[in-house]
Amino acid sequence: MRVFRCPSCRLPLARSEADLQRCPVCGRDLEQTSSARSRARAEQPVSDSPPDDAPDRRTFGVGWALLVIGLLAGGTLLYMVRPRWTNPRPAPQAPVQQTRADSPAAQGAAAGASASMASPTAGASSPTGSPATPAPRSPRLMAAIEAPRMEEIARAFGAGASPPAGPPVENVVLDDAKHPYIVEPLQGTERINLSGQASRLTIKGLDGNAQLDITGLQAREIKISGDIRGNAVLRLKSPYSSMTVQGNIGGQARVEIESFGGSIKFYYNTTIAGSARVTIAAHSVRISRIDDQADVSVVLSRGGILRAGYVQGSSRLRWRKAEADDPKPQVYTGKVTGAAKVEQE
Ligand SMILES: [Zn+2]
Repeated sequence: MRVFRCPSCRLPLARSEADLQRCPVCGRDLEQTSSARSRARAEQPVSDSPPDDAPDRRTFGVGWALLVIGLLAGGTLLYMVRPRWTNPRPAPQAPVQQTRADSPAAQGAAAGASASMASPTAGASSPTGSPATPAPRSPRLMAAIEAPRMEEIARAFGAGASPPAGPPVENVVLDDAKHPYIVEPLQGTERINLSGQASRLTIKGLDGNAQLDITGLQAREIKISGDIRGNAVLRLKSPYSSMTVQGNIGGQARVEIESFGGSIKFYYNTTIAGSARVTIAAHSVRISRIDDQADVSVVLSRGGILRAGYVQGSSRLRWRKAEADDPKPQVYTGKVTGAAKVEQE
C-alpha cells in the first residue's frame, strides 16, 4: 500500500483509497496537488515540498510550550485541590431534585452513610459494632450538621443558596423509524431527553446551559449541524449509527458520544476547541482539528480506525481500545504541534 501525506495537515493517507479527492480531515484538494506534482515531475525536477518555515516556528513554539507548561502546572495544582469537594457534593441539578423528591428517610440514610465514612464525631458513637440497631439520634444529628455544609458546597458550585425548582426536562419519545427528527437549537437551561427511533436525527446546536440527553436512540443517521458551546452538555447513545458533525465544539461544552459499531466524522475545518471535553466511543472516528485546551478521548472498538488532522495548542487527544486484547487499531494523526499531545491510554 502506497502512503503519502496530505500537504496541508500531514495526515498519512493511502494512495489506493479511491475516494480521496480531498483530504478527509482538512479538505485539501488532493487531486489538484497530485496532478500538479506529476506535472512538475514530468517537466522539471522541481522540489515539490512546500517552503518550510519550521525553524522559526520551532523557537516560537518553545516559548509557547514553556508558557503552556506553566499554565498546565497551575491548572493541575488547582485540580488537585478539588477532589475533596467532589465527594460529598450532589451532582448538579438532577440529584438536587431527587433529594427533594426523596423522603426524609433517604436523606437520613445518605447522611448516615456519610457519617459512617466521614467524621471523628460520629466514630465515637459506634465503631462498626451494631449495624442491626442503628441509633435513631445519630442520623438526624448528622443531617443537621451536614445540611448547612451541603448548602455551602452547593453555593460554591453556583447552585445558589436555595436550590431553584430546576429547569424542566422535556421527555421526547420518537416512535417512527421512518421519519426524520430535528432538535432545534437549544439554549438557556433547556433540557431534553430523547429516546426511541427515527430515520435521521438532526441536532441544530446547543448553547448556554442547555442539555440534550439521547439514550438508546435507533437512528441510522445523526447530524450535528450547529455549534455546541457555552456550558452545554450533549450525551448521545446510538449504536451503529453514522454521524456527521458540521458545527464546532467549544467553550466549556461536554460531549459524550457512544456509538459502538458506528462512525463519526467531523467536517473539514470544524474544531474542538476552548475547554471542551469530548469523549467518543465508536468504530470509525475522523476529527479535523483539536485546539486550545480541548480534551478529546476516543475508545475504538475492535478493528477501529481513528484519524485526526490537526492537534494544536495545549489540547490533548487520548485513545484506547475497547477491549484490552483487541488488535491494535489504526490511528493516524496529522500535525501535532505546540504543547498538544496524542496519547494511548
Ligand atoms: Zn489534510
